[in-house]
Amino acid sequence: MTPFHYQRATDAAEALTLADASRCRFLGGGTNLVDLMRQNIEAPAALVDVSRMPASIEEEGNGGLVIGAAVRNSTLAAHPVVRARYPMLSRALLAGASAQIRNMATVGGNLLQRTRCAYFYDAAGSRCNKRQPGAGCDAIDGLSRNHAILGVSDHCIATHPSDMCVALAALDATVHVSGADGTRHVPLVDFHQLPGTRPDIETVLRPGELITAVSIAPSAAAAHSRYRKVRDRSSYAFALVSVAAGLDVADGRIRDVRIALGGVAAKPWRAMRAEDALRGEAPTQDNFLRAAEAELAAAKPTDANAFKVELAKRTMAAVLGELAGGRA
Ligand SMILES: Cc1cc2nc3c(=O)[nH]c(=O)nc-3n(C[C@H](O)[C@H](O)[C@H](O)COP(=O)(O)OP(=O)(O)OC[C@H]3O[C@@H](n4cnc5c(N)ncnc54)[C@H](O)[C@@H]3O)c2cc1C
Ligand code: SF4
Repeated sequence: MTPFHYQRATDAAEALTLADASRCRFLGGGTNLVDLMRQNIEAPAALVDVSRMPASIEEEGNGGLVIGAAVRNSTLAAHPVVRARYPMLSRALLAGASAQIRNMATVGGNLLQRTRCAYFYDAAGSRCNKRQPGAGCDAIDGLSRNHAILGVSDHCIATHPSDMCVALAALDATVHVSGADGTRHVPLVDFHQLPGTRPDIETVLRPGELITAVSIAPSAAAAHSRYRKVRDRSSYAFALVSVAAGLDVADGRIRDVRIALGGVAAKPWRAMRAEDALRGEAPTQDNFLRAAEAELAAAKPTDANAFKVELAKRTMAAVLGELAGGRA
């Protein structure tokens, strides 16, 4: 590991003062960044530890929540308001990693965790455009069973690994960011970027910017929601496909629906086409399958991960069927 300078911040203002935009990184729970530093994939000159900043979950008058970036994943999953009004978020968090890691991992760090593409981690032997722009991508003609099927480019087919972010995408969460130029609020669906020609640029965060919080607003669809994760083992494994969905039905018609997919793209994938196909329709299994078809029509799988197309369709329809009160 490359030597680095360590400092701890007690609040956002101190974190920003300590941070030197170029080679300084913020440290959350360290469950991803420290691994990457050990393998010399990341080599910051300095770390500003933001894991001990005040970590509050504040309830707003309308039932919304403002969740501090230093809140631990396990704390957020167990929060009574999250469990009652945003069950998909609680379930997504509990589907991620292990209890020990969830106790360490922070909301800010989870948003910025990096892909689990094996070639990205193999700095000694593999070509990877995300690690080294212009180097090439060994996954495209290599082992791609776990890789993306939506929003892919010729430069990268990695997936975003977070479960939490899939639920946050479906909930229309907002990321609160502070930096030298002040504060700004970024919709979570715009926070992560698709690979295009620059897979090394993963988010719209600027150098030196600090995530201070994430906010979510209540809705009937958020309160009636689920998260289902399909994976090779029943725990401690990243998603092959996951679905966060919420459904609000009135008078036999879908009034509101929120759907996001994990394990299929370089970002949490908000399923807008499926949502558009369902609003105003009856909550039937046929309609759910048709909406899933519409969403996955743009899929570009490899031979090794073509199974994800059907898996995503069936999982989406099953979760929506469950929410609609069917057997799925
Ligand atoms: C064995 C294993 C299994 C796992 N399984 C899953 C899984 O199934 N699902 C899942 O979702 N995740 C899984 N994870 C990943 C885990 O959720 C992430 O490592 C964790 O969420 C990262 O949070 P952290 O606070 O430890 O981040 P860190 O490792 O501290 O940081 C990650 C990144 O965020 C940046 N950062 C941290 N806080 C801020 C901030 N406030 N502002 C700006 N930048 C910041 C850091 O600089 C770094 O770039 C797994 C991890 C491991 C090791
Ligand atoms: S898929 Fe992306 S992360 Fe994986 S090797 Fe290719 S460029 Fe790197």
